[in-house]
Amino acid sequence: MTSSEEGEQQPRSTSSMWKSYLYQLQQEAPTPFLVPCEDKPPDTPPHYGQEYHGTMGRHRCQELLSREGSYLVRHSDTSYGFYTLSLRFNGQIKHYRLYHDGRQHYVGEKRFDCLRSLVADGLVTLYIELKAGEQLRNISAGSYVNSPHYTLTRSIRKQIQSRRKVAANRENVKPRKQKVAEKEVKKEVDGSIFYVSSKKEETVEEEEGEGEEKEESCEVTTQRPHRFHVNTFSGLHWCGFCGHFLWGFVWQGVKCQDCGLKAHKQCSCKVPNDCCPDLNHLHNIFGVDLTTSLGVKTGPGSSGTGEVMEVPSVVTECVAEVEARGLTSEGIYRVPGSQEQIETLKLAFERDGNRVCLNERSVSDINVVAGLLKLYLRLLPIPLITTQCFTTLQTVCKLSDPEARISSIREAVLTLPPAHFATLKAIITHLGRVYEHCAVNKMSATSLSTVFAPTLIQSPPQTSNLQPADLLALANTSLQPRVVEVLIIYHRDVFQ
Ligand SMILES: [Zn+2]
Ligand SMILES: [Zn+2]
Repeated sequence: MTSSEEGEQQPRSTSSMWKSYLYQLQQEAPTPFLVPCEDKPPDTPPHYGQEYHGTMGRHRCQELLSREGSYLVRHSDTSYGFYTLSLRFNGQIKHYRLYHDGRQHYVGEKRFDCLRSLVADGLVTLYIELKAGEQLRNISAGSYVNSPHYTLTRSIRKQIQSRRKVAANRENVKPRKQKVAEKEVKKEVDGSIFYVSSKKEETVEEEEGEGEEKEESCEVTTQRPHRFHVNTFSGLHWCGFCGHFLWGFVWQGVKCQDCGLKAHKQCSCKVPNDCCPDLNHLHNIFGVDLTTSLGVKTGPGSSGTGEVMEVPSVVTECVAEVEARGLTSEGIYRVPGSQEQIETLKLAFERDGNRVCLNERSVSDINVVAGLLKLYLRLLPIPLITTQCFTTLQTVCKLSDPEARISSIREAVLTLPPAHFATLKAIITHLGRVYEHCAVNKMSATSLSTVFAPTLIQSPPQTSNLQPADLLALANTSLQPRVVEVLIIYHRDVFQ
């Protein structure tokens, strides 16, 4: 049975490592609507524009702000010398004392270049507090060992610890002739070990020599505190501690200056002193939102010219390799590859994707390459087929008229973010080619869709604390493979 094999290979918990409920709420939150003042009041301060209405009482304000998200700035008639931001949220008018420091606007501690961003950020925060107040209070309740940051860096931590052990052993033995070498090892341990490629093979051998090392012992006890600074993230980011979305538009959370760990401010207090500066040298490919990683990446690994790369290199390389030697491999994508080898490849991609070679000499088992592709897709915080797109797809896939069905499916996938559309097209087209060889590889469209559906579409979480969106997802789980199957069978028409 295909699904049980898949289940054994990858525990379901990894698929719900990221929690996108707060991201969905940010998408749903009301957006700012400026109520302009028609005649510019003579006392308009230079940092306000059309939103400034001069002196105004609350009653008039109530009349003007009729639509959800609408806002204006007024000179309060009760507190002289202060300005008030008034906005409508959840059917009520809210008033805030508004400040300007000569450069930026603020109401609380966050500072904004423009008032519209301040209102947008405020509306998102109000909406999230309204809809998910209970979740917010418990956001930092989880354990660090089960956190996304810990899960994603497990193999790396293990390697760091292994290298430290090796270094410590050498320190104890202290052979006289190796004094020069010792100096080098020290540098390796304290500095950026992941760039010392010439030492790579040697280290792998040493690691293998320590075969009895257990999985739980991979915790790195550096006792080094993280250096968290408040950070404004561009793109979409998730908390490495609780797995929830870092909502808002500025100062969404904190980031460790040494290892790059991102977290909510309140979650950062729960992270132990286990900072590994080495982690900052990784490229953050796995577990990073697709749009964010493709949109902001301009360094090595991208097209090099700074323009948006259409499909992540890990996807194109895995697809190319499977098409080169896996199309006729029986049970491709169903037969699991070695978990350890997949983790090693993942780490190699994180270090430097340009130097990873997936050919037969480097990776003899094609199922490891197939497993790497599935792992990448499974670790995306926002699934390749977004919840919104899936909702449409499951409806249109049932249409009886073939032509209407195809054109509706095409319309639905076109609503995906560009990075998601391009990557989905690459994956589904590839699965179409795998399916064309089903007589040999024994992978029917049904088998492929059973294997891929949980990695392409959000799986419902395993906890009892289900959110409304999760309940919906749970109800639709049985439709996931059907949607993917239809995409595979009609890929030529859908993605023509
Ligand atoms: Zn750190
Ligand atoms: Zn958090």
